[in-house]
Parts: sequence; structure tokens; C-alpha cells
Amino acid sequence: MSSLFAGNESAMTVLKHAVKGANHHAYLIYGEEGLGKRTFAMLFAKAFLCTARSGRPCGVCRSCKKVENQVHPDLKILIGEKRGSIHVESIREIRKDCVVKPNDGELKIYLIANIQHMTEEAFNAFLKTLEEPSLHTIFILTAEHLDQLPETVVSRVSPVELYPVPEESAALWLRKRFPETPLEECLRAAQASGGNLGKAEKRLSLPELSEISGTLELLCSAVSAKREYDLLKALAVYEKDKAKQVQLLGEFLQVLRQALLGRSGKQARAIQACLQKRQLIALIGLTEEIREKLSTNANGSLVSAYCCSEMRKIIA
Ligand SMILES: [Zn+2]
Repeated sequence: MSSLFAGNESAMTVLKHAVKGANHHAYLIYGEEGLGKRTFAMLFAKAFLCTARSGRPCGVCRSCKKVENQVHPDLKILIGEKRGSIHVESIREIRKDCVVKPNDGELKIYLIANIQHMTEEAFNAFLKTLEEPSLHTIFILTAEHLDQLPETVVSRVSPVELYPVPEESAALWLRKRFPETPLEECLRAAQASGGNLGKAEKRLSLPELSEISGTLELLCSAVSAKREYDLLKALAVYEKDKAKQVQLLGEFLQVLRQALLGRSGKQARAIQACLQKRQLIALIGLTEEIREKLSTNANGSLVSAYCCSEMRKIIA
């Protein structure tokens, strides 16, 4: 487990303090896709509910086992799968359930993953829950980025940011996960994903992703070198395959966000060196807009052409 979160000492420290009793009533674990937010949230929940005297979570007590099997009566899990999928009814149910005392121990944990997928109404109801915390309740929340959430919610939670792990540690972890794969290839996957284990794992297990990564590379270098022709070429690759185009733009979005935050990763560093902050913000907005357009019934070729002309204006 520790190598999974190598380089995340600050998050581990929050967890250790929280378990020792210095707990806040709501934690928000955030970071890009693939960093293990859900795994970390479960580890957090397990630590809170573990009945061992020290070294929590012990992983062997009855409570830890129940959490692992997701049958602990004091752990409720709600997962937002897509935009707007966490409805106000679910939050109202949680609010009602909050006041009921825990079954087994002293705490009740509500793990809500991807809270960015709450509807506006759900957010409002949730805000009220955060404003009137009950003593035995702890919320463990996850989201990708703080800017996806209302400030009123962010200001009432204790944020815990997750970071990619150092590339060498990532490579060693991948080697254990894929014992058949040579270490060199694991290291390449770790480097290409900037230490994001989830992404590196996907890269090694889904060969079609390396196809997308070639196009992503072309798109990123076109943007950093401001080469219009390559930009057009990269965006045209999947104009007839919307699912892949959405995937490509999703990967591109993550590179842009990494660049904006000044994070590692070869592509992010190259883009960061060539674009100003306002250009990065504009590109992120545009890429989000295009991805949204593609997920509705928009025509792929038209969207690609629009995307290309707008990107050219931003990076010019
Ligand atoms: Zn335990």
C-alpha cells in the first residue's frame, strides 16, 4: 500500500493525525484521475473504523475485514458515475441517516466519490449537512479538481491533495503488478504517465491506449511548437471515432491541467514552457467545451475543425 502512495507524505500525515483523534468532520481527497483517490478514501475509512489500538488500519480486525468486503454497517458509499448523477434524494437520505447513532463503534463514515457529479440541488442540500455536522459522522469525499466544486463546499472541508508518485517507485510498483513486463517498459509507462499509477497501469494493460498516446504526443508537440499543420493532423485522426476523440481530449485536458499546476510530466513541462497562464486556462476551457460537444450529438468533423481554429487563436 505504501508504494501506492509514495511521495504522498502530506496525505498520509493527515490520515495518521485524523485517526489519532484530530479529526475534521469532512475530508476532500482530490487529484487527477488515476492517482488512487478512491483507494485512499477506502484506506481512510478503514483507518477510522479499525478497532486495533495502534497502527490503524491494521487490516486484520473484524472491522477492517468488513470494510474490505464493503459490508461494514457504519460505512455508506455513494459513487457519482457521471455528470449530475448524484441527486438531492440521495443527499437527503444521508442527512436523515446521519442523526442515527453508529451500529458498531463510535463513528459513521460516508464515502462520497466524485462529488463534482452532484446536481446543484444536491450540492445545496449537502452544504446544509456540512454546516450542521453531527459528532459521530465523518465525510470522506473525492473529486478531481477543486475548481469543479462550489467554493462554499470547499471552504467547509479539509482538503487532502494526492500527487503522482516518483517515476522510479511507479516503475517498481508496475513491475510487481505486471511481472511479465520488462522493467524498462514499466519505467517508460511510468514516465509517459508522469508517475500516475492508474494511467500507467491502463497504458500497460490496454494496447489501444498506446495508439492514443501517439496522437496525444503529436497534439501536445503541435501546441507547444505552435505548429498549425500538426494541430490539424492530430485533431483529424479521430474525427470519425467520437469515443477515441473524447478520450484523446480527456488525456490532453489532464496534460494541460498538469502544466497549469506546474507538475512534472514531459508533455506538461513542454507546454508550460511555451504558453502563458491565460493561454493555458483558455485551452482548458475550450477542450472542456469540445469534449462536452462531442458527448452530445455533434458532428465529429465539424467539431474537430472548430476545435482546431479556436486552438490556433489561443496559441497564436
Ligand atoms: Zn483493523
